[in-house]
Amino acid sequence: MKKDKSYILTLDLGTTSVRALVLDENGTWLGMKQKEFQQIFPKKGRVEHDPVEILQALETTVLALFKELEIGEENIAQVGITNQRETTVLWNKGTGEPLYNAIVWQDKRTAAICEKLKADGWEEYVKKSTGLVVDAYFSGSKIKWILDEVEGARELAEKGEVLFGTIDSWLMWKWSEGKIHASDYSNASRTMIFDIQKLDWDDELLAALDIPKTILPKVHPSIHRFGEIKIGAASFEVGGVAGDQQAALFGQCCFEPGSVKNTYGTGCFLLMNTGEQAQFSKYGMITTIAWGDGDQVIYALEGSVFIAGAAVQWLRDGLKLIDSAPDSEYYASKAGRDGVYVVPAFSGLGAPHWDMYARGAIFGLTRDTGKPELIRATLESMAYQSRDVLEAMKEDANMELKVLRVDGGAAANDLLMQFQSDQMNIAVERPLNVESTALGVAYMAGITAGLWTMDEVKQLRKIDRTFLPEMEREDAETLYSGWKKALKRTLNWVEDE
Ligand code: ADP
Repeated sequence: MKKDKSYILTLDLGTTSVRALVLDENGTWLGMKQKEFQQIFPKKGRVEHDPVEILQALETTVLALFKELEIGEENIAQVGITNQRETTVLWNKGTGEPLYNAIVWQDKRTAAICEKLKADGWEEYVKKSTGLVVDAYFSGSKIKWILDEVEGARELAEKGEVLFGTIDSWLMWKWSEGKIHASDYSNASRTMIFDIQKLDWDDELLAALDIPKTILPKVHPSIHRFGEIKIGAASFEVGGVAGDQQAALFGQCCFEPGSVKNTYGTGCFLLMNTGEQAQFSKYGMITTIAWGDGDQVIYALEGSVFIAGAAVQWLRDGLKLIDSAPDSEYYASKAGRDGVYVVPAFSGLGAPHWDMYARGAIFGLTRDTGKPELIRATLESMAYQSRDVLEAMKEDANMELKVLRVDGGAAANDLLMQFQSDQMNIAVERPLNVESTALGVAYMAGITAGLWTMDEVKQLRKIDRTFLPEMEREDAETLYSGWKKALKRTLNWVEDE
């Protein structure tokens, strides 16, 4: 018997695919459907998505999932939405048509706009107001680009006929037939035009980027009744919205200040809950809103590692040392001597080093270095790079932490997780359900629906395995100082790119 209104529907709008998932009141996934959509690369450095295709793909997955589970609107209490962050859509309010493709977070076309902002002295202001560094990654410069470059866009915007949104807003507007034009704090805090302490759009930055206020969505707490959307003929209420990384922090139940999650995917994303105070970083970490719940706003520090799992892909596809990513664990377990370091600075280094001129290198090779040592050193590089970020975060936030909560594809690697625990000297906790992003907004929507309280949500989270430090401290520190030495030698390698 399927119960009325006791399930949560999660819509996960990722960078390469969309997914629909249904969670029951015990926190168990009942099913999931996924569909990829097209990645559009019009020129070097440009990445776009078709916003209409994204919604069509999502609608197909939801309807297929409902059919498979034999459920409908009567079973769904609330909907949670999580999305790729920063990706920017502008559309015509009258026709509902996008003015241009969605410009994806990876897109670098607006680098010159950001250089100009820096030259005009905006860096400090941007950091203080938005918590961000001036970068083409965020939405602000992308909005300006569409208004400036797409024919007729600015005139239309000046008439009040254009709307902007990240993917969450685009979805809610389209599926509410124009009734909801909204976003949540976590998504707004990635636009580079939102004051994360005043919780409002920043007029000075809007002026600097020439963005009319009329195009902007209303921003709400992440846990909130956003309103009703229609999928096909069925109606649902949206009760939770958050950007993907912040959703994962919530899904890992990092509710207390000092709690941290690390996602080991292509890159690594570390987020630390810093409580109700925004902490500003000395090391180029980003300050962001984790989520809002009523009057309470929780902030986070965010740092990322550019190349993590991607280095394992390089072992597999570039060097052809392994057939599949999970094989890395077997070979690494056969490694002998320590002292080999792979620094995968393939495209420069991110936080806390920030050197776009660094390049990758292998150190400590001897005659007996073989495949297992290279593979182990590559896995270890994920743990060292994550430690680099975490050490900087701890200093920025002035907090000690007890546990690192992990997810993402490479978190399945036990050898890596054990080494991570040895390096950071803390417990590394891997949940049974590693769909943290989708879980995060499902929990938020469930809280809005009254299915659970925050405390009850914590009870829903089940641990698969906890890794505790085993290595002698001195040995771990000796290894880490070798890493720091290796890393230093990759800095400032190429002259110009
Ligand atoms: P993304 O969401 O960034 O695509 P995923 O969370 O799906 O990433 O994780 C995939 C990444 O993790 C790939 O880069 C892959 O090389 C790496 N990976 C997957 N499984 C393992 C494993 N068992 N050991 C090490 N790396 C792995």
